[in-house]
Amino acid sequence: MAWNGTVTCSECYQTGHNKAGCSRRKERYEKALAIPKGEREWQQTRLIENYENSKKRRSTRKCTYCSESGHNRRKCVPLINHIAYVVRQQKAFRAAFLEHVHSVGLHAGSLVQRSGYSANQQRSVPFVVTAIHWDNVDITTCGPHGLVRLIEVCPLTDLGGIRGDRSHQTFTLKSPDTWRTGPQWPIPEGRYQENSYSVDVIGPAFTPAEPPQGWLEGSGRIKEYFNDRHSWQWPTKDNDTYYSCNWWDVEENQEIKESS
Ligand SMILES: [Zn+2]
Ligand SMILES: [Zn+2]
Repeated sequence: MAWNGTVTCSECYQTGHNKAGCSRRKERYEKALAIPKGEREWQQTRLIENYENSKKRRSTRKCTYCSESGHNRRKCVPLINHIAYVVRQQKAFRAAFLEHVHSVGLHAGSLVQRSGYSANQQRSVPFVVTAIHWDNVDITTCGPHGLVRLIEVCPLTDLGGIRGDRSHQTFTLKSPDTWRTGPQWPIPEGRYQENSYSVDVIGPAFTPAEPPQGWLEGSGRIKEYFNDRHSWQWPTKDNDTYYSCNWWDVEENQEIKESS
């Protein structure tokens, strides 16, 4: 595979398919097969062997998610269901997050101050929000840890400086108590980034912040999250919490669990 993601065939040097899907190779194989066994050249015998071996390997290949053969991850029904289960939580989480952002007036340009631990000397320094990293608002990272850092700021005192000299830091908000978080969302003491790096909005923005297009619907990093998981980790019992993805309380959760 080349750096830009296109495959080049080692048989015919065309792009867009590999040796396994090459029609020229298939033709060569069929031609060789038509020759009576004793009259084949050794290259032809080898081609037949290789071709048939890889065909057999392909047909017995197992799904890397559920370990069943006959399909791959893209067609894996448990994986599709499990991803959908988390996507529903993502949508609810992101909608709640956006509502919270609007209610506190967080936006590029608003003013924030560090909160969290008491008598912090940095408490007095006001920061200007320069960016909101919407991608960091993802249920697969925030679910297990609470809100992670997503607000890029610059100290108000640095604003006059030359571009590039500004020191940027990244902070987060605290999860509001009113959120319908699920049993796997950590208790307040367990939200490390919220406890160490959260800010309060002291100068809210007038206009509501808008996330990038598709963000509210977005699957975000959910697919990548499942790259490291296998179907056996999916909990089947209520007390089976180690690998549980119940970060957000959505009504459909129960029903999905029963059907998968
Ligand atoms: Zn080819
Ligand atoms: Zn599968």
